[in-house]
Amino acid sequence: MIHHLSTTPQSLFEQLETQFLKPRMDRKPVHYFCGNSLGLQPIMARHYVSEVLNDWSELAVDGHFYATNRWYDFHKQLIPSLARLAGANNSEVTVMGTLTGNLHLLMVSFFQPKGKRTKILMEAGAFPSDQYMVETQLKFHGLDPEEHLIEVKPREGERILHTEDIVKAITEAGDELALVLFSGVQYLTGQAFDLETITRAGHQVGAMVGLDLAHAMGNVGLKLHSWNVDFAAWCNYKYLNGGPGCIAGLYVHEKYANRPDMNRFGGWWGYDEETRFLMEKGFKPMSGAQGWQMSNENVLSMASLKASMQLFDQVPLDWLEEQRKELNQHLALVVKKFPELQVITPKRRGAQLSISVKGGRGKELFQFLHHSKILGDWREPDTIRLTPAPMYNNHREIDRVEEALSQFFG
Ligand SMILES: *Cc1c(COP(=O)(O)O)cnc(C)c1O
Repeated sequence: MIHHLSTTPQSLFEQLETQFLKPRMDRKPVHYFCGNSLGLQPIMARHYVSEVLNDWSELAVDGHFYATNRWYDFHKQLIPSLARLAGANNSEVTVMGTLTGNLHLLMVSFFQPKGKRTKILMEAGAFPSDQYMVETQLKFHGLDPEEHLIEVKPREGERILHTEDIVKAITEAGDELALVLFSGVQYLTGQAFDLETITRAGHQVGAMVGLDLAHAMGNVGLKLHSWNVDFAAWCNYKYLNGGPGCIAGLYVHEKYANRPDMNRFGGWWGYDEETRFLMEKGFKPMSGAQGWQMSNENVLSMASLKASMQLFDQVPLDWLEEQRKELNQHLALVVKKFPELQVITPKRRGAQLSISVKGGRGKELFQFLHHSKILGDWREPDTIRLTPAPMYNNHREIDRVEEALSQFFG
C-alpha cells in the first residue's frame, strides 16, 4: 500500500508536504524548522506500525515468517533505499541498533591501535556522544585521550574548519594515525565537510576513515562507496524521518565484505543466513554489512522508517538537492536583511542554517520565534539553528520567518 506520488516537479513538492503530519500549537500548524533534530511523521508511519501490531496480535510468533511484511528479514526492505542515499551498494548497508552503539561496534573492527599507530583524529567540538564514544574507546585500549586524540580546531577567531587544515593535521599525524573519524555535516555549525578529500588524506597516511552521518544522510549527496570510505554510521530519525529513537544504520565498504577474520562482536543476526537456524557452534558472519548485525531488530521502528523510505524512493536525488538549495538560499537572503544576524554556516552546507545573534538577544529572539510558531532550536551562547527540510518545508514558511524577524527587530 504505497502512496504513489506524481512526478512532475512542482506537484511533487506540494504532494510531499501532504505526506507529513505537521505539529500544531494552539490548534494552528507550526512552521517546523527542526528536521535536523527530529524529522516529521510521515502519514503512512501509523499504517505500517499498526500493521505490525495487528500481525503481532493475530499471529504472535508466526509473524516472523507470515506477517504481511514478515519480520525476520524486514530490514532488507529498507536497505536499497538507504544504500541509494548513502551512495553505496546494497551489500554495504544495513539497519540495526542505534547510532552511538553502531559506532562502538564498528570501532571493534576498525580501530585497532598497534605499535606507534594509536591515534584518532576528529573535529573539535564534535557531537558530545561521539566525543564520549572516542574517549571511552581510547581508555578501553589503555590509551590516554589527552595524548591519543587529535582534535582539529578552527583558526583563531573562526568557527568553521578549512579542508586544508584538516588535511594538514592528518598528514602531520602520519603513521601515528590509526583512525580519522569525522562527521559528514557538523551538527552545530552546519558545515558540510569535503568527505572525499578527507578520506583520501586519511588513506594516504595509512589510517582507516569512518564517518558519522547523523546530519548528512537524507541531507547532502553522498558517495560512500566511490569515495572509498571504510565505515559509517547514522541515525534514521533526523532528516530520514524514522521517528524518535528509530533504529539506526551502518555502512561497511565492500572490500571488507568477506573478511570473517576481522575482529567484530558477533550475534545470531550477523550469522550466515543460510545456516542461522541450525544454531551451530562457531560464528560464521554474513557477507557484507549484514555480517555486523547482532540481534533480531525492532520491527515497530523499522515499520515507521519504511513509511519515510517509500517517500524518499519516489524523489529524484537531484530534485531533492535543488529544493534544498533553493529553500536554504531563500532563508539566507532573509537573514542577510537583518544586521543583528550573522550566518555561521559556510557555503558548503546542507539544509541547516546556524545563525548567531549579536547583542546578547539570541535567546529572546528564539523565544519570540517560538511564540510566532516558528520552531528552530537554540544552542548556548548565541546560536539559533533553522533547517528548511526539502521533504516538507516550503517557501511560504520562510516568508513567515521574515515577517517575524521584521516584527522583532522593527
Ligand atoms: C544526533 C547525533 C547523535 C545521536 O546519537 P544516538 O546514538 O542516536 O542517540 C550522535 N552523533 C551525532 C553526530 C549526532 O548528530
